[in-house]
Amino acid sequence: MPVTGLPPYDDANIFARILRGEIPARKVHEDAHALAFHDINPQAPVHVLVIPKGRYVSVADFAATASAEEIAGFWRAVAKVAKDLGLEGPGYRVLMNMGRDGGQEVPHFHVHIFGGRPLGRMVA
Ligand code: 5GP
Repeated sequence: MPVTGLPPYDDANIFARILRGEIPARKVHEDAHALAFHDINPQAPVHVLVIPKGRYVSVADFAATASAEEIAGFWRAVAKVAKDLGLEGPGYRVLMNMGRDGGQEVPHFHVHIFGGRPLGRMVA
């Protein structure tokens, strides 16, 4: 269950549909805990999304309710995806949007991996 104050998980969200194979995605990695695929509207030469397989609305929900094994597996997948895409040497950025003010559009927890060019200093 999501933590108090967050909306309940919606099984119709677009990433849930990608997880179920109902709509296509350009997958780059899949394991027991995570699925990674290219963003449909890339903001950098490499822009990949990594999502947990469990039903988590946001990072707050994931942090509060996922098991330690799921959390470790997810973050190991994030680092592996970045490495496998050749980003570990030059570097990359990992971003999470959370809730309304964070600009989160899809209510299934995900991280963005950006890379492939110098990204500059991040400003809010
Ligand atoms: P958020 O703002 O929720 O952090 O980011 C959601 C991301 O999902 C956006 O970067 C958007 O381009 C991406 N996205 C939305 N719909 C789809 C889709 O159907 N397929 C893929 N691959 N990415 C999507």
